[in-house]
Amino acid sequence: MTDKYNDEIIEEENQDTDDQTDDYEPEKFCTLCHRSERQAGKMIDLPNNIHICPDCMQRSFDSMNTQMQSGNFNYGDLFNMPNISMIDLSSFQNQMGQQPKPKKKKSEKKAPVLDLKKIPAPHKIKATLDEYVIGQEHAKKVMSVAVYNHYKRVATDTMDEIAIEKSNMLMIGPTGCGKTYLVKTLAKLLDVPLAIADATSLTEAGYIGDDIESVVSKLLAAADNDVEKAEHGIIFIDEIDKIAKKKNTNQRDVSGEAVQQGMLKLLEGSDVEVPIGANSKNAMVPLTTVNTRNILFICGGAFPDLENIIKERLNKQASIGFYADLKDKYDDDPNLLEKVTVDDLRNFGMIPEFIGRLPIIFTMNGLTEDMMVQILREPRNAILKQYQKLLALDEVKLEFEEDALRAIAAKAMEKHTGARALRAILEEYMLDIMYEIPKDDNIGEVVITRGYIEGNGGPKILLRGQEVPLLESGK
Ligand code: ADP
Repeated sequence: MTDKYNDEIIEEENQDTDDQTDDYEPEKFCTLCHRSERQAGKMIDLPNNIHICPDCMQRSFDSMNTQMQSGNFNYGDLFNMPNISMIDLSSFQNQMGQQPKPKKKKSEKKAPVLDLKKIPAPHKIKATLDEYVIGQEHAKKVMSVAVYNHYKRVATDTMDEIAIEKSNMLMIGPTGCGKTYLVKTLAKLLDVPLAIADATSLTEAGYIGDDIESVVSKLLAAADNDVEKAEHGIIFIDEIDKIAKKKNTNQRDVSGEAVQQGMLKLLEGSDVEVPIGANSKNAMVPLTTVNTRNILFICGGAFPDLENIIKERLNKQASIGFYADLKDKYDDDPNLLEKVTVDDLRNFGMIPEFIGRLPIIFTMNGLTEDMMVQILREPRNAILKQYQKLLALDEVKLEFEEDALRAIAAKAMEKHTGARALRAILEEYMLDIMYEIPKDDNIGEVVITRGYIEGNGGPKILLRGQEVPLLESGK
């Protein structure tokens, strides 16, 4: 504030005291821009001694209008300005004829979110997963049982009386083998909200990045801000291996061990204050409390080098006594990862308290070429089926020769990104087909051949009513 401005105020105060009128009223200042009534014009009075000048009020309404038009209006944003914490949001909402947002929607819901009788039995959960996820039999079985037990406990609410552990899980498997996909399918099947977060973006509170509790806000958003629904949801934290304790470092480990420590309470179950409709507590948005006790946490990671740690341990054991001669017997063991123990994970850099809160640990296999072919063809929403459906809309039949599928799978294997590579590869080859086919109404069928995928031929194109291919279009 400038001296001149101060002088003005003092002068004004003096004048007021000089006048000594009965209806003395101190000058009002705008809560948002701090200008006096004399400078900014007549103030609009709100409860709790809050005054807003016409300019600031107009600005608030303008921004509210724009947000309403764009469909993402949020009362909190209306006050996303300096000093806003002074405003009593609920009274303002009342004044606008709005009811404050109910904290919990408990009374509105008659049917419970989870009905014990309706939780599908493990074999049914697995059967549905089978329709979408190829292979990974062990993972699907473990998850089906864990999820069944978890929701059974939640529905009967016996966790307080008998101290049964939560069924939080840790899934270990190479990239692209279906970890996220499995969790997504599971959440869809159980009709529970799901939040997916990346452990690498999480930092200890107060550091740049998302603080750990932001995963709960994500879940709340996925549950349409319904606290009760969110409390039965699933949180999947990917790349969990990236927050392993760093070895030989003197610096403060902000993103590794500290994040693991920070997650302990969440995993176990605690009350977390989260903003409604935003993922940062800094924005002045209303907060609500979410209890994480019944939230199922699933962590996933590729854990590179874990195999070496396992091998080292096994070799050490083997070198004792008469197994010494079998030193290299684990070198080519494809199922080495399955032999993982809690100690191996600790050696990897996960702190014991953290692993202790993920009692269900299982591994997933890397995909083989055969699995890749199956993934292309078999799941309910298989990529091939999607393309076939697209072309069927143009009344064109799309077929793939078995050899062509193998060639696509082989190309995907080379990329070492698991099944993720399949779509990218297929898209590349389907682009020309999708571009050319609608040009000619006579085309009735397209057969993708191995030659087309390997770049030394073209797809077979059959005209309507023709049995024999008439055209071979080069790529
Ligand atoms: P990650 O293990 O790295 O989390 P994702 O689950 O994201 O891998 O897999 C990427 C994509 O690959 C999925 O969206 C899914 O379409 C496909 N996919 C991966 N594994 C399988 C599988 N076992 N069965 C069916 N589809 C799979």
